[in-house]
Amino acid sequence: MNKVIKVDKDKIDKLINYYEPFMRDKKPPYSVFQAKDGDTVVTLYESGKVMFQGPTADIDAAFWGEAILIEKESFTFNTEDSIGSDEVGTGDYFGPIVVVAAMIKEENKDKLMELGIKDSKALTDEHILKISPKLKGLCDYSYFILNNKVYNEYNEKGYNMNKLKALMHNDCLLKMHNKYPEIKKIIIDEFTTKERFYDYIADETNKIDNLTSLTKGESKSLAVATASVIARYIFLKEMDKLSDKVHYPLPKGAGPQVDSAGKDLVKEHGKEILKEIAKYNFGNTKKILDIYI
Ligand code: MG
Repeated sequence: MNKVIKVDKDKIDKLINYYEPFMRDKKPPYSVFQAKDGDTVVTLYESGKVMFQGPTADIDAAFWGEAILIEKESFTFNTEDSIGSDEVGTGDYFGPIVVVAAMIKEENKDKLMELGIKDSKALTDEHILKISPKLKGLCDYSYFILNNKVYNEYNEKGYNMNKLKALMHNDCLLKMHNKYPEIKKIIIDEFTTKERFYDYIADETNKIDNLTSLTKGESKSLAVATASVIARYIFLKEMDKLSDKVHYPLPKGAGPQVDSAGKDLVKEHGKEILKEIAKYNFGNTKKILDIYI
């Protein structure tokens, strides 16, 4: 698929900034750059024309067309019948990694977007807790919760974060694909190249195929955005359960609050607690345990 849009001179910098990490060494004649972003090849020409090529060309062209040319804050989503996946918890010392694959139908797009799903990154936790129960009937989903005890065991066996994520995404996407084989568009929020993704899941008996890979997928695809909201919801609920279990309000993220919570917990339960409820390979562990060495 090919899509061409024209951008103003003053918008070209934004485009260059965005695609800088994905730029190729070689570029076609009369072009400023060529980049490969997920499944889309993007070429900016000296004339100001931008060509998008590949299975996700329409999504990326719409993203830039709406966001930049028409100067809107929000942009058109890909809202066709699709399955999309995203994960949360990978940057949080406490709490699990949660991957969700969501199936959405075009006919429900207005209701989903009214709930605020079109901009999932901007949603507060309060908003997510409020809207998630209302998603029932508007989508279907599968999920995978990887608790930290298991995360740490796999990590010690040499499974890095991206491999674990790839296995979880594959599992969730397959579940939805098997349930809705008629849906052809399957989108993953890209966290590694597609080539690496398939390397990570090489040993799996069943692999999801016809995968479309999108960077910033939660801003471009309604299915991925829906998945990211549900994943966050599940994560928040799991964090509540975990906090109840250790009788301590566990902070999110991996900042100084997390270190001080970790110190309190180790004082109370011993350092083994970290292997149960925290991502042991994070730098926080050293900061928390230093005072005990
Ligand atoms: Mg993501």
